Amino acid sequence: MVTEQGFDQEFTVILDNHKVRLEEGLSEVEVVKRLKIFGANELPQGKREPGVIKFFKHFHDVLIYVLLAAAVITVVLGHYIDTSVILAVVVINAAIGYIQQNKAEKALDSIREMLSFKAGVLREGKRKDILAADLVPGDLVYLRAGDKVPADIRLIEASSLQVEESSLTGESDAVNKQTERLSSETVLGDRSNMVFAGTAVAAGSGFGVVIATGGNTELGKISSAMESVEKLQTPLLKQTAQFGKLISVIIVLSAIGMFFIGYWVHDYATAELLLAIIGLTVAAIPEGLPAVLSIILALGVQTMAGKNAIVRNLPSVETLGAVTVICSDKTGTLTKNEMTATSVILADEEINVSGVGYSPEGMLKKNGDGIRLADHPRLAKFLACVKTVNDAHLVKGKKGKWSISGGATEGCLLTLAEKADDEVEKLPVIMKIPFDSSYKYMAALVEDRGTKWIYAKGAPDKLLDMIQSEERDEWEAKIASHAKRGERLLGAAVKQVDYTEGTISHEDMKCGFEFLGMAGIIDPPREEVIDSIVQCKKAGIRVKMITGDHKDTAVAIGAKLGIGDGAKALEGRELAGLNAEQLEAAAMEYDIFARTSPTNKLQLVEALQAKGQVCAMTGDGVNDAPALKRADIGIAMGIKGTEVSKEAAEMVLVDDNFSTIVNAVKEGRRVYVNLKKTILFILPTNVSEGLLIFISILFGTTIPLTAVQILWVNMITAVTISLAIAFEKLEPGTMERPPRKANSPLLSGYYVFRIAFASAIIGGGILWMNSMLEARDYDQGVLQTMTLQALVISQLFYLFNCRSERRFALNRDFFSNKAAFIVSAILILVQLSVTYVPFMNTLLGTEPIGLRYWIWPLLIGMSVFIIVELEKWVVRRMSKKVDLLKN
Ligand code: ADP
Ligand code: MG
Repeated sequence: MVTEQGFDQEFTVILDNHKVRLEEGLSEVEVVKRLKIFGANELPQGKREPGVIKFFKHFHDVLIYVLLAAAVITVVLGHYIDTSVILAVVVINAAIGYIQQNKAEKALDSIREMLSFKAGVLREGKRKDILAADLVPGDLVYLRAGDKVPADIRLIEASSLQVEESSLTGESDAVNKQTERLSSETVLGDRSNMVFAGTAVAAGSGFGVVIATGGNTELGKISSAMESVEKLQTPLLKQTAQFGKLISVIIVLSAIGMFFIGYWVHDYATAELLLAIIGLTVAAIPEGLPAVLSIILALGVQTMAGKNAIVRNLPSVETLGAVTVICSDKTGTLTKNEMTATSVILADEEINVSGVGYSPEGMLKKNGDGIRLADHPRLAKFLACVKTVNDAHLVKGKKGKWSISGGATEGCLLTLAEKADDEVEKLPVIMKIPFDSSYKYMAALVEDRGTKWIYAKGAPDKLLDMIQSEERDEWEAKIASHAKRGERLLGAAVKQVDYTEGTISHEDMKCGFEFLGMAGIIDPPREEVIDSIVQCKKAGIRVKMITGDHKDTAVAIGAKLGIGDGAKALEGRELAGLNAEQLEAAAMEYDIFARTSPTNKLQLVEALQAKGQVCAMTGDGVNDAPALKRADIGIAMGIKGTEVSKEAAEMVLVDDNFSTIVNAVKEGRRVYVNLKKTILFILPTNVSEGLLIFISILFGTTIPLTAVQILWVNMITAVTISLAIAFEKLEPGTMERPPRKANSPLLSGYYVFRIAFASAIIGGGILWMNSMLEARDYDQGVLQTMTLQALVISQLFYLFNCRSERRFALNRDFFSNKAAFIVSAILILVQLSVTYVPFMNTLLGTEPIGLRYWIWPLLIGMSVFIIVELEKWVVRRMSKKVDLLKN
């Protein structure tokens, strides 16, 4: 055993080794020097796949194989121009896939940067929050529950410190940490006086000196192999991929069938027939679709980041649009988290407090007159208790503005104590139990001139459980009267203990306390939240408040915001007695859950999901992580959230604001609608082309397009004009409809109908044009050029149909999407060059056509536009009777 003094010597050696003083920490000058020597505290970048390999991976695709086979056939037939164009398409396709992947990865990378984490250090005698990347060996670091451990740290202080080290040791139970010296042979998993980078503080708090940073940490030594895999697949993308495979099979089968029909029934020349079949195959496959869909999602991630919602992966963008319930914390998310203690309620008197915010200007008053602390010993003791059991610090900013470092609830109590006429004493703390939202109190073992006490502050009802007294009823009445006004209540209680006592635990908190009184704290609701909740109601999204606060406080704040009915609320402990079925019913029925613990959050998420709800859940503490992981969209707080909760979440709110969630849901819906519009837009191109060729072969007429021309049409429409839809604004009414069903199929009945309908008009129109002009003996090259133009022009018109799902196309938002007009202009230029630039003529087999030939393609395009608008109108009228447009 080492003696008490031995500890100190041991620490002195460690601190000396790192040339740092315990009360001071490092100086900023020293930090700069050490940063130069040791480098930033970052893990060496894992080896990313080299670009070339990433590029070639995009060739591994059924479609590409079909195209390559086509290329081989054209070589055999000696159509080298076709070969080169097909190969060009293959390369372009891979390039687009590659660029798209890079773009999505970049979007997620920059978001990871926004999430770079912070650490609390002691430097130049002051506590500072710095980027974890700026830590150097010798830095003194504070650790709290929920922190990610930023470097390898030798502990100097540890209060009930528990650390979850599974990332290093694979052991998922949290291990206890202490400060005692260990033999140098101790293996990593047993080094209980050290905490390691990459692990997380599960409970308690600590303080220590950084021993190793970056690549020198234990994690750094093993991490070069580790590289997190991003989820780039989304339900919709998966559905699209499956759908694509299905299409491919159908296409290949019909191509074979077609070949036999053409060969035996119509006596086509084998070469011409083969090329036509290749054309068909290529035509019907929507090559650009997956790329376009991912780009739309990546753009969605960026837009959301611009609106304070950092989404960590692509699938969440989609899920956000389907959210049916948002479960939100109260404090800081629905309220401003700007706390002011406005009253102190004692057994026999009530003290009022003037002044708002954290500035210590204001007075303690009774019946309107200022009071002296000396005349109110109980008040003095109350204030000493809440000031002592407190981790926050009041900070005066440069411009004289007061703020707090630490939690708002604690900070406002410091302000309260400062407002007294006399200095309130802060007693030395021997050991503490940090605040934990499961226990709802915080306690400290303190020494007061030869006696030892446990000072506790926390939820009054929890503290009242620790006293034996008949006054409880009286206190309950006081609690109720303040809570009903929406005040957050914080009580203080003390108990004297034996002088030999050197530690405290939750066991010591069961009984024997004296209740001193409580502070009534106001935390005004955020004004903008009221409107967001109205929006949620219209959009069929339910909002539930889940709070650790008193039931009456929760109901009162709920009433101000529009959550709940102003009366009904359920307490966390009431959930415990329910069976699964009752729990599910309660989760659906109640909108306010008070006095909850983090376990209750998990229960509620599971119950809601069992009821088929798509659940978004907010959380900030380390204990919230399981509920965040379980929720469909776990939402962490960017400002007051712990690092662990951020890692468990799908989305992080930069501003901790509930309204940001609603905006993200709105964006999610917009993105999803646009994804569907994109599909609605792209598919008719493929289907109508397929139709053209299929019918031509079936009836033995000239095939109106070459394979190369078809590839051209597909690429140009898919990759240029369809992107315009990504920039389409939120359609009015989108937030007035209930959320879509989470498992609703990619293409609803109406969508299938529309795709068939639009394809029939485009394909039919072109067939009609061709048969008519062929009868007039138009040249084959001219006809093909006109067919190509008719397809592209029809798609251009159809784009404007698709821009809005059910509204009339020429509405007041017609000019709202600049992208639609920009791509239109580009497309027109490109199509003119295809027709009139000789080089393009050679490549695509087109011919310059006279002005009057344009009439027909334009006519077809316009009729597509008009007929689809008519169809929308009819469906709108019908859907008033039948619910055709659902989802
Ligand atoms: P919420 O996040 O819903 O506001 P909390 O779990 O933060 O709920 O708080 C629940 C109750 O615990 C509060 O009403 C208060 O009485 C008490 N409490 C909150 N913060 C602290 C703290 N730092 N120390 C002691 N008690 C606290
Ligand atoms: Mg809280």
